[in-house]
Amino acid sequence: MKTRFAPSPTGYIHIGNVRSAIYPYLLARQQNGTFILRIEDTDQARYVEGATELIEETLEWLGMNWDEGPIVGGPASPYFQSERAEIYHAWGQKLIDMGRAYADPTNAETIQKYRDECNAKKIPYLYRNFRPENPPEWKPGIPLRFKADPKPRTWHDEVMGDMSAGPEVQDDIVLIKADGLPTYNFAHIVDDAEMGVDYVMRGVEYLSSTPNYLALYEAFGLKIPKLVSLPHILAPTGNKKLGKRDGAKSVTEYRKDGILAEAMLNYLACLGWNDGTEQEIYTKDELIERFSLPRIQNSGARYDETKLFWMNGQWIRKIADEQGIEALYARTDGFWPENADAYDDNYKKRVLGIIYDRLKVLADLRDMTGYFFTDPEIDLKMLTENKFLKKLSEEELSELLQVSVRKLEAINDWNTDTLQAALNELLEETGKKPAELFSAIRLALSFAPFSPALHLTMEVLGKDTSLARINRAVNALEND
Ligand code: GLU
Repeated sequence: MKTRFAPSPTGYIHIGNVRSAIYPYLLARQQNGTFILRIEDTDQARYVEGATELIEETLEWLGMNWDEGPIVGGPASPYFQSERAEIYHAWGQKLIDMGRAYADPTNAETIQKYRDECNAKKIPYLYRNFRPENPPEWKPGIPLRFKADPKPRTWHDEVMGDMSAGPEVQDDIVLIKADGLPTYNFAHIVDDAEMGVDYVMRGVEYLSSTPNYLALYEAFGLKIPKLVSLPHILAPTGNKKLGKRDGAKSVTEYRKDGILAEAMLNYLACLGWNDGTEQEIYTKDELIERFSLPRIQNSGARYDETKLFWMNGQWIRKIADEQGIEALYARTDGFWPENADAYDDNYKKRVLGIIYDRLKVLADLRDMTGYFFTDPEIDLKMLTENKFLKKLSEEELSELLQVSVRKLEAINDWNTDTLQAALNELLEETGKKPAELFSAIRLALSFAPFSPALHLTMEVLGKDTSLARINRAVNALEND
């Protein structure tokens, strides 16, 4: 059993591209089949340097290894369409020999004239009505066209159900262009046949061309692979397809923001598919086990970035809780604030250990952990205008912090237990509410909108830094 992912290397990998890879991957793994990666690079105008590598890296990052394709090779090598010209020529020749294809030297202006004529007469434009009478012999430089066999056709799509189409949508499509390279319409039929592909899973945008593909399968006497049209991914609002302008970033950008591969895979697999339960978090192995074609939905799936971020937060916690903070830490390279470089792994791991449950993306570390590595800028307004503290005068605030310093100074063994005990004593001795006392100390330490529980934060910062920070705030209040 073989499935394939057949991307065009355009340099930009959007959400939909990756989802088109996930389903064939899951199906192949579930059925102990073969997952093929084929690079559809016959559109020279769209070719982008490095785009193939980006596709490979993205699949590797997501943990979706391919069994045949670039790098690994395979029985149907090469897996780059641009290197398969001879194969397409041979298949084109077969059609010529059967009388089912012809060389077509008609130039673009003439074709446009045909179109205009049809428009003027308000009749549908079909190239087969203008088929040249005496086509020349086919040679490089002349496009090769299919000779359509228009008739009613029916087929089954694994997602869209039973389909039918009339002759009016079947035409003499171009098989090989003037540059000698095949069109997508022709190349994928040849490749899927040569590579033994059983499931053609791709975006629903190819559904309207399927009648032409059926004619080609028929002409070659090929068994029709299972056709699986994946629903569109819709923009967050309205009824249109998700586009670059709808706020969806490329997969590469999400990766740079610190979306985890597990979360990306989980989110995209569930965008247009569900297993009928309420479960939302799936590991790759669970997805492989549960995936089923009939449960792919046939209507558009709405893209929801908030959900992706939520899911990523779930995955961050899942990794830390199930595999340990070490495992999560291993993913955080490049996501720390600049000043963190001066600190060792052990310190950063401790910071991560108390903050990870607040992260949505790993890049949040950059904004949320700065004060663990640098003395924060003093912003007295944060203290004086805080909703729990604004009823205190600056003198009262300063006094509260000074009492706190004295209590904390007395701790010999600086750990979370002794810190918690000292904070409790302070509450009793000052008669303050926890929200007041803790906000005052927390802000003096971090000047950040939020931070982990106070005893944890102070334990990681250490005694010297904690006391120095509170004293700084006291000085600032005194000198204000
Ligand atoms: N190269 C096509 C694309 O990127 C793939 C369609 C297919 O999977 O057959 O849209």
